[in-house]
Amino acid sequence: MLPHLSHEGTTNDSEDEEEPKRPLSEFYPYIRCALCSRFLIDATTIIECLHTFCKSCIVKHFFYNNRCPTCSTVVHQTQPTYNIRPDRKLQDIVYKMVPFLEESERKQMCQFYKERGLDVPNTAF
Ligand SMILES: [Zn+2]
Ligand SMILES: [Zn+2]
Repeated sequence: MLPHLSHEGTTNDSEDEEEPKRPLSEFYPYIRCALCSRFLIDATTIIECLHTFCKSCIVKHFFYNNRCPTCSTVVHQTQPTYNIRPDRKLQDIVYKMVPFLEESERKQMCQFYKERGLDVPNTAF
């Protein structure tokens, strides 16, 4: 279940402990690629261990290694790309969450520059 995204980054300690608010950052490990540390692009899951990476990242990784980068499970002795499959559901989640994340990160960056009296670089947009 996905959390409501309307309250960005605010923690609420007075919430019921039985139903804790799930901060968005809790989902980062699931929608970020451990290889490039960015949000997943063409999310691709290793069927042996269910770890997910960008397709291009994991295919490159398999050029020199047949183990999962996260848990070191041997994906396949000779053809690791046989044991990966696209994860469209997860990719959909990334697409839904990333616009929000980008906006939130951009705000933080603008804040960072403004606090220091600097111009916000155009590359931020
Ligand atoms: Zn990646
Ligand atoms: Zn793994």
